[in-house]
Amino acid sequence: MRQNEMFLLKLGEVVLKGQNRRSFEDRLVANTARRLKSCGSFQVYIRQSTIYAEPTTDTCDMEAAYAAARQVFGVVSVARAVPCEKTVESIVETARDYLADAFASAKSFKVESKRADKNYPLNSIQLSQAVGGELAEAFPHVAVDVHSPDLTVHVEIREKHAYVHAPAVPGAGGLPVGMGGHAISLLSGGLDSPVSSWMMARRGVELEMVHFVSPPYTSQQAQDKVLELAHLLTAYCGRLRVHIVPFTEIQEQIRKNCPEEYFTLIMRRFMMRLSQAIARRAGAKALITGESLGQVASQTMMALGVTDDVTEMPVLRPLIGMDKVEIIRLSREIGTYDTSILPYEDCCTVFTPRHPATRPKVEDVCAAEAKLDVDGLMARSLEGEEWIWVKP
Ligand code: ATP
Ligand code: MG
Repeated sequence: MRQNEMFLLKLGEVVLKGQNRRSFEDRLVANTARRLKSCGSFQVYIRQSTIYAEPTTDTCDMEAAYAAARQVFGVVSVARAVPCEKTVESIVETARDYLADAFASAKSFKVESKRADKNYPLNSIQLSQAVGGELAEAFPHVAVDVHSPDLTVHVEIREKHAYVHAPAVPGAGGLPVGMGGHAISLLSGGLDSPVSSWMMARRGVELEMVHFVSPPYTSQQAQDKVLELAHLLTAYCGRLRVHIVPFTEIQEQIRKNCPEEYFTLIMRRFMMRLSQAIARRAGAKALITGESLGQVASQTMMALGVTDDVTEMPVLRPLIGMDKVEIIRLSREIGTYDTSILPYEDCCTVFTPRHPATRPKVEDVCAAEAKLDVDGLMARSLEGEEWIWVKP
């Protein structure tokens, strides 16, 4: 590790938040510090809309920290940088040394300067010219090309130091987790719900997960797979509580008492009711599902109306307008794909009707449900609920 190397994290939409900006920034600093903790001891602070993360010992795992910083919601870009004195000589010397490998493999370069310290005697253009001129002399095989250089050397003049770095890489974007409210996300073992959870966390929502299990129809492996999916999400959202809710009796009663074409819909209504009860207890204000319009029979517009009929809080469905290929691409990007495609059964896939209703009417489904003791079934299910904290 290069001595002094540290990270500069640039804020995205956070800077637009006017009055709330301070609390957004505080939250982002706290979230960043928490995410970096497992990579060693870092000092994390914010100045002029940039988060500084500086290792305080030389045992920090800088590669892991670099990856972790890129998973913090609210950060648009991450650069590995080295601070130096704010003189042209010191900046040139630092760039020469720190970016020697990058210069060795480049045929052309340019310098781009930014001044957060507006009292600095040189303006950005003058500084870029001065630093660029000296670097061109130091690396005679590399030509200056301001239009499409192989290497861009970034110089930032900030409060105390100048910072030298190669181009920044994109961060996770979005808003800091915790600033967008608190919601219950229905997490199955499939491809969709890890992505929908991730999307809402990226909008700053603090998540709590609910997973329904139907032993012996669903296995321990299926549950472990869901916990692993939650674990993968903790890299973005920090520790997560996963409520494990027994669903066997409900499914058996539905199978015994209701018309087959409504099995899935009635089951989904129970999932929503139970999730809402858990949300109320937890103080959460919305539910999140991985539903996408028309993907399956229970996700037609009329079916969604039947499902929503039993909820009073907003149901957020971030995948509603997305195609399966887009969802799969995202699941690969966020790292949940390989786990999602493991072949264990979900309680949605046991007792699936051969011909599910695709244009169901609320009153017909309510009538079909009338034989069930909804309150009793819910109470017994909630009694058997357990939760597990999944840590990063
Ligand atoms: P996924 O890929 O997320 O499993 P899906 O396309 O298989 O979704 P369904 O099985 O109909 O669709 O489920 C729709 C949504 O209901 C899921 O995205 C998830 O939010 C929720 N859900 C389904 N099964 C469970 C479960 N066992 N526990 C918790 N939530 C569930
Ligand atoms: Mg599923």
